[in-house]
Amino acid sequence: MAELILSDIAKHFGDATALEAISTTIPDGEFVALLGPSGCGKSTLLRLLAGFEHPSHGQIRIGSRMVADATSQLNVPPEARNIGFVFQSYALWPHMTVRRNVGYPLEIRKLSRQEQARRTDAALAATALTDFGDRMPSELSGGQRQRVALARCLVSDPTAVLLDEPLANLDVALRASMQQVFSDFHRRTRATMVYVTHDQAEAMAMADRIAVMNAGRIVQFDTPEVLYARPRNRFVAGFIGEGAVVPLCDISRDDRHSYRATLLGTRIAVNSDTDTPRLACLRPENLTIAETGDVRAKVERVTYLGGRYRLDLVAATGDPLVAQSSARFAPGDQIGLTLAAPWAFADH
Ligand code: ATP
Repeated sequence: MAELILSDIAKHFGDATALEAISTTIPDGEFVALLGPSGCGKSTLLRLLAGFEHPSHGQIRIGSRMVADATSQLNVPPEARNIGFVFQSYALWPHMTVRRNVGYPLEIRKLSRQEQARRTDAALAATALTDFGDRMPSELSGGQRQRVALARCLVSDPTAVLLDEPLANLDVALRASMQQVFSDFHRRTRATMVYVTHDQAEAMAMADRIAVMNAGRIVQFDTPEVLYARPRNRFVAGFIGEGAVVPLCDISRDDRHSYRATLLGTRIAVNSDTDTPRLACLRPENLTIAETGDVRAKVERVTYLGGRYRLDLVAATGDPLVAQSSARFAPGDQIGLTLAAPWAFADH
């Protein structure tokens, strides 16, 4: 296994820019999700790592080995990168048993029978498929087929495993159980994994770190906890987790990371790591419902979440907010809120 290093990568398709200014390192053994809306460049970035696409600018290294360099036109072909790739469609051979599907890459490489059997057994075990080796793909569920595809990419002992929306074809319940399969698989193998998804809950559930992408760029690359608590801008705040973004005014600095500002008509403390905080991200945890609260709001919508309610609110200032409550409210109710210091960022 080895780290994946991208240096100032750009990718153009004709006049269109799919990726721009991507410089990042995916450390050895980390499970990274590439998360962003449709068309932001996630798949293109994955295909560049795999070698299916060539960068228009910049370099890609796997460990100390240069695998792509736009200047010298070096592009190591996919089969020579030792990278596993799992697609949305499983691409299993229908006429081969599970066992043969998984071991086929080793057959091609003409490894000894014994070595083929040993590695195939290990890959089947790592994906909980030991009992399914004699089945045909047509006799498997979608989740089991996806596990066969994962096992097949594992047998070659790849440097990294790249996964492009592998669960997109599965129903909700199966997605949840497959997320567990991927997490367990990662914990057991410590493989470097790069996982493309547009589903933030899926990324949060599995990844050590998430690269949030928008319009061809990585906007923020952090742990799920940091992305939630300290988003860099409005896009990340809106894409990760629940909450509202509201403007700040009359800002004064208390010390390096703390400010006082007026938001929703009340003066409160605000945390930020920029010199120019302009917007605050109010998560449901920042709002407490209290009769005595300075911020007045009207309940617009109530959604039962099991054990608690989600309240969509409109503050007296007109800003939409999201709160949570263990007590039931009705649309139209007027409530008071107290605010706990939110995270703030610059206005871009
Ligand atoms: P999705 O979640 O919808 O799959 P994505 O984030 O994976 O989207 P990409 O498939 O990487 O996005 O595409 C990024 C941009 O590059 C898009 O605007 C897309 O139309 C464009 N693009 C991708 N591949 C090609 C291609 N072969 N030729 C021309 N444009 C392309």
